[in-house]
Amino acid sequence: KACARVPPSRRVRTSSRCLDVMPAWVIDKYGSNDVLRFTRNASFPSITYPNEVVVKVFAAGLNPLDVSMRGGYGAATLSMKRDPLSITVSGGEFPLILGRDVSGVIMECGLEVKYFQERDEVWAAIPPWKQGSLAEFVVLSANEISWKPKSLSHTEAAAIPYVATTAWSALVNTGGLRKENCGNKRILILGGSGGVGTFAIQLLKAWGAHVTVTCSQNAEQFVRGLGADHAVDYTDGPVEVSLSALEKFDLILDNVGGDTERWALGLLKPWSGSKYVTLVTPFMQNTDRLGVADGMMQTAATVASKALKHLLKGVHYRWGFFAPSGPALDEVRDLVEKGQIRAVVEETFSFSQVPQAFEKLEKGHARGKTVVQVS
Ligand code: NDP
Repeated sequence: KACARVPPSRRVRTSSRCLDVMPAWVIDKYGSNDVLRFTRNASFPSITYPNEVVVKVFAAGLNPLDVSMRGGYGAATLSMKRDPLSITVSGGEFPLILGRDVSGVIMECGLEVKYFQERDEVWAAIPPWKQGSLAEFVVLSANEISWKPKSLSHTEAAAIPYVATTAWSALVNTGGLRKENCGNKRILILGGSGGVGTFAIQLLKAWGAHVTVTCSQNAEQFVRGLGADHAVDYTDGPVEVSLSALEKFDLILDNVGGDTERWALGLLKPWSGSKYVTLVTPFMQNTDRLGVADGMMQTAATVASKALKHLLKGVHYRWGFFAPSGPALDEVRDLVEKGQIRAVVEETFSFSQVPQAFEKLEKGHARGKTVVQVS
């Protein structure tokens, strides 16, 4: 019966049964770019829970996480999330499909899906424990999807969801910011020219905050064009010296990590509820290195001791994480439709050029997003 759903050209008949298949880029082991493999015979994703939908992928956005996951980053944590009882043997995640952003059209809805229907155009950020969007079809929960902004093409729409839901989670859920309380706030974004930074600048400006960003000298015009009030070149001497000459900040979003947290918290207004939120955390490395249980304990101990140390100095220290959210994307869609947020697509690739898209991503120095046109 399942075979009736896909065109006959996509059916593969084995000796005993009929399988639904689709084109996809998969990896069968972790490694460098040569592990990426194109196949016409990837398993067609099926609805397992009644709140799920099958989306036909038109465009897939890539993120630094895709390069990291190709190399095995997060394998222990994500395997546990995929298979909490560890029933499957090691390597059960393969063939793995990468790609965390999708813009496409709903092909099929589970029985309990209420707000969406077949042929709706949707966008979504796909949780890293699910099969990704470098494929003709992907399955998502209804609470992870949102109607795509009509004003954006699928290619543009695929540039937004993962960075938007990450920035939303860090700024709103962790940082406590929202439209109503941003007007008088000074925000510093460390690393303003990449995917998360270019989205965060626009969101915060739409909400009326004063936004300072750090970036390379050659990205200053670019970030100002997105609305940044002030850009500080981090390549021109110690950036913390230039930043400490400025008025102190209410919130810092750190997209850079490394040694930034040694000095960044000193740039916050003390004893005023100010927060430092970093997206660059050792959480996955800890669980990959120590195993899930010990890694989580190590993580909790690290974050608690850092939070306490900084609390005694009157500032809040937090870790931010991506969180899939259809409702957050609904709010982002309204800002896009009002012209307050635009997609920042740096480069697009065809579906046959996925390895080249990964090579581009790996070179770093992003100025917005890399998008693959799937169909
Ligand atoms: P991108 O690769 O898109 O952008 C990074 C940007 O930072 C580039 O524009 C780069 O340009 C710039 N940059 C590099 N070094 C510095 C520096 N020292 N100071 C200022 N800018 C710098 O990454 P994303 O925006 O997608 O992600 C940012 C970080 O957040 C990544 O480390 C990512 O892994 C992490 N992240 C974490 C998530 C979580 O759940 N915790 C979710 C999403 C992202 P140039 O080198 O030319 O200056």
